[in-house]
Amino acid sequence: MPPWHARGRVAEVRSTLVLNASYEPLTTVSLQRAVVLVLQDKAVVEQAHPLRTVRGTGVTVPVPRVIRLQRYVRVPFRQQAPWSRRGVLVRDQHLCAYCGRRATTVDHLQPKSRGGTDTWMNTVAACAEDNQYKADRTPEQAGMKLLRKPFVPTPQATLMMALGLRGSDVRELADWLPAQVVAAAAPTAA
Ligand SMILES: [Zn+2]
Repeated sequence: MPPWHARGRVAEVRSTLVLNASYEPLTTVSLQRAVVLVLQDKAVVEQAHPLRTVRGTGVTVPVPRVIRLQRYVRVPFRQQAPWSRRGVLVRDQHLCAYCGRRATTVDHLQPKSRGGTDTWMNTVAACAEDNQYKADRTPEQAGMKLLRKPFVPTPQATLMMALGLRGSDVRELADWLPAQVVAAAAPTAA
């Protein structure tokens, strides 16, 4: 699947922010799922797209941008994001740590075959070519320089990843998100 297709799909798929009954942001869902939750009275629309509506059988519903669950859902508090391949790609903005081009794979600095672990500090996004070239070696052994060091995502980035939000979403949804998250996503003032 070409990357631009995947990107468009991801942006399309989860476009509605879901708040807990207590107004804490929980996750994002597709528009279709959001409309179903509203029609089933499981959620209410807190913010709608100003000019758009969805027409169902006999009903017209505003296109929900933010919905809130009618019943409180208990969620465990996570300070640090659990490691995942997808998480590494998102953290590194899908850019190869070695050449800066588009990355689709995750490279282990200390290869797994040499005891390397699935952790934030041991993994970076990499393009398939560089990952293949590096193979079972450390960057030093392969003579490859890292353009940037791996890091553990901050609690703000962790929430962003859990919600599947991009910077542009954060500006639009600022009213519903914790202030630190909005501040972390804001472009740096000159
Ligand atoms: Zn590369």
